[in-house]
Amino acid sequence: MKSMRDESYEFQEVKISVFNNKYLNGTVKSVVSECKFIDVPSDISEAAEGLKPRMKETKRVKGRIVGVDVVVSLVCISCKKHMEEIDSADRFMECQSCKTSLLKEFLKPAVSANLILVDESDESVGLFHCPGSVLNAVFELLKGNECYNIEESDVTKVSCKLITETLLLLKKASFKLLMDDMKVASIDIL
Ligand SMILES: [Zn+2]
Repeated sequence: MKSMRDESYEFQEVKISVFNNKYLNGTVKSVVSECKFIDVPSDISEAAEGLKPRMKETKRVKGRIVGVDVVVSLVCISCKKHMEEIDSADRFMECQSCKTSLLKEFLKPAVSANLILVDESDESVGLFHCPGSVLNAVFELLKGNECYNIEESDVTKVSCKLITETLLLLKKASFKLLMDDMKVASIDIL
């Protein structure tokens, strides 16, 4: 008998074997029959519906960036968490998450930014976190543009001032926003 997806079957005369887990074993007397009508109570269907992964809400907004806070952190080589740089003169640093003491010169910087966005009618859209990968993509787009004096598209290698001023000077852009995380997924320059 071939079993089909979404069908239910009734098993009779099967043996339960126990070996690490429980297994159902068929015997010569086993009978498998299809169950035609199973009423799934509506509260079970609703509960199952609630367990399905939700689509993340994304929104496209045309507008501009009116506020920028560039965040520079160092990535821990032990636990990969981002660390706030407290004393820049110190050669050593302790990771706030895993408490490992680290030599600062071996740590890679990570740059991201918090952006305040307005739409085309200058209405506030909100404060969104923009990851470094999106900032890099913006700088890559601007690299070939004569109006901007950008030669480096890796934002960990440019100053916070240059990142801030470049973003504030973008006249018009289209933002793809992840509304659940308040995150910028991508920026297209218009
Ligand atoms: Zn760590």
